[in-house]
Amino acid sequence: MKQWEQYFRKVVPYVPGEQPNQPGMIKLNTNENPYPPSPKVKKAVEEFKTDNLRLYPDPASTVLTEALGKAYSLKNEQIFVGVGSDDVLATAFLTFFNSEEPILFPDITYSFYEVWAALYNIPYETLPLKEDFTIRKEDYYRKNGGIVIANPNAPTSLSLELDAVRDILEHNRESIVIVDEAYVDFGGESALSLLKEFENLLVVQTFSKSYSMAGIRIGYAFGAPSLIKALNDVKYSYNSYTMNQPSLYYGAEAVRDSDYHKEIIERIRKTRARTAENLCELGFTILDSRTNFLFAAHREVPAELIFEKLREKKIYVRYFKKPRIDNYLRITIGTDEEMAAFIDAVSGIIKTSI
Ligand code: PMP
Repeated sequence: MKQWEQYFRKVVPYVPGEQPNQPGMIKLNTNENPYPPSPKVKKAVEEFKTDNLRLYPDPASTVLTEALGKAYSLKNEQIFVGVGSDDVLATAFLTFFNSEEPILFPDITYSFYEVWAALYNIPYETLPLKEDFTIRKEDYYRKNGGIVIANPNAPTSLSLELDAVRDILEHNRESIVIVDEAYVDFGGESALSLLKEFENLLVVQTFSKSYSMAGIRIGYAFGAPSLIKALNDVKYSYNSYTMNQPSLYYGAEAVRDSDYHKEIIERIRKTRARTAENLCELGFTILDSRTNFLFAAHREVPAELIFEKLREKKIYVRYFKKPRIDNYLRITIGTDEEMAAFIDAVSGIIKTSI
C-alpha cells in the first residue's frame, strides 16, 4: 500500500446495473423506457447551437425550472434540479442529514441510500419490510435524523398509499422526509399534493423513466423554498454549474410535451398488465407493480437459473443475490415485441427446468 492510500476515503461502491451493448439483445435490466424521448426533444437536439457551448450554463437552470414549474404548478423557488435524481438525492443526503440520530429507510429499497449514508458518515437504520414487502408505517413514528422512502419502492415495485405517507409526515415534524418518486408516473400516488401541508417534505423525481431520458441525467426535487435554498447552497459549494447547458433545454422540451409523456406511460402500463398475466400463467408470483418493471418469483424454478438462461439468450433482466429477494427477478417493461420474445424464452426455460 502506498503511504497516501491511508488517506483515501474508503467506500463500498454502489453497483450499477450492467450496460451491455450487443446486437440483437433485449435489455430489461435497468428500468429504462423502451420508447424514444418526445419528438420535441429530438428537434431541440437537432437545433441546438454548438456555439453556445462556449458559455457556462445558467447556474440557476432557469429554462428547466420554469418548464417544470409550469408543468407541475409550482414556483421556481420550490424546484431544485440535478444530474439525475441520484445527484439530487446525494445532495439532499449531504444537505439535510446531519443529525446524531439515525436516518431511517426500509431494508429492501434502492441500494444507493446505504452508499450515500456511508459516504457522508450519516448514521442510518434500515427497517424491515413486512413479509409481503409492504412498509409498516408505524415503524417510522420515532425520533430520527431523517426518513427516505422510495414510493413506489424499488426493486419491489409496490406503492405506499398517500394516506400512509401523510401519516408518516404527521408523526415526523422534526426532520426531513424524502419521498423518492422515480417511478411514480407509472401508477403511484405522488406526495406533491402534500407540499402545502408539510414544509419538511422533499419530493424527488427524474427524467430517466417516464420521460425516457436516462442518458441525459436530469433529476429534480420539489419542496419548500427554504429546503430548495439549502440544497442550492450545498450545490453551489461543490459545483455551481452541475447541470450541463444542452440538457436544460432538452429537459424543458420533454416536460412541455405532456401528451407524448402520457402516451408512452399508457403504453408501458398496458404492456405491463399483459406481461404480468403471461407470467402468472407460467407459474410466477408477481407483486402489484406501480412501476415500469415487474418483481416476479417462480414457484418452482430458481430465479438465478432463469436469469442465467435468459442471459445466454441475450435477454437481460436484473437479479439480486440478497436475503429475502434472491428468488425474484426484476423485469423492466420493454416494447410489446420485446416482452413477447421474453415470455417465449421464459416459457421454454420453465418447461425444460421442471
Ligand atoms: N431512485 C430509484 C428508486 C431508482 O430506482 C433510481 C434509478 N435506478 C433512481 C432513484 C435514480 O435515477 P436517476 O439518477 O436516473 O434519475
